[in-house]
Amino acid sequence: MPHTYKVVVIEDEEKIARMIKDYLEKEGMTIFLAGDGTRGMELIKRYSPDLLILDLMLPDLDGLEICRRLRREENIPIIMLTARSQETDRVVGLEMGADDYMVKPFSLAELAARIRAVMRRAGEQGIGSKGEGSNKDEAKILSRGELQIDVENRSVKKGDREVELTPTEFKILSLMARYPGRVFSRLQLLESCLGEAYSGYERSIDTHISNLRKKIEEDVANPSYIVTVFGFGYKFMNK
Ligand code: CA
Repeated sequence: MPHTYKVVVIEDEEKIARMIKDYLEKEGMTIFLAGDGTRGMELIKRYSPDLLILDLMLPDLDGLEICRRLRREENIPIIMLTARSQETDRVVGLEMGADDYMVKPFSLAELAARIRAVMRRAGEQGIGSKGEGSNKDEAKILSRGELQIDVENRSVKKGDREVELTPTEFKILSLMARYPGRVFSRLQLLESCLGEAYSGYERSIDTHISNLRKKIEEDVANPSYIVTVFGFGYKFMNK
């Protein structure tokens, strides 16, 4: 049986948007269309969709800006649509937190298949509140490389060794390790792990990251767990 996912599509080319809507509705999904980023953000707020299909080039806010804004507060899965020439943008799109991308022109059947794959992964990782399998099975112990992060008991081991972390370091590590490969901005980490009192002090995150690295990395100059994404923030490597 098809899942009745709610999907917001932000795409300014009306013909493409229509085709996507018609096809995915036949697949049993509910589709909301927006022709620009501002409208798209409104639809996301209003309908809390399960997934976002996001064109990179839009007349007002571009797709990257939308990704960046959404990633501050939401874990909604995002599939980005890009034109063939935008090779670097599409890499940046993934770095910014998109979950997958499709290069135009693409097949609608392929898009539907990618949506199901992304939703399946989101369900496994406990992303979003409505995906199948969602938060119920959220892992209590995250195993990443040599690290074992016990989210419930707030303890971390590297191999057999207990790693002593401050509460803030623990929050940063457990948040990032839950979503390997996703880029977190300093602001995002600050707001999630330190609270609003620290807004405006985004660089204070760097100090915590640097301390965290001393405790978990073999070589702090060449980190293998938490890497810097220049111009954006940090990400936890897929292990
Ligand atoms: Ca476009």
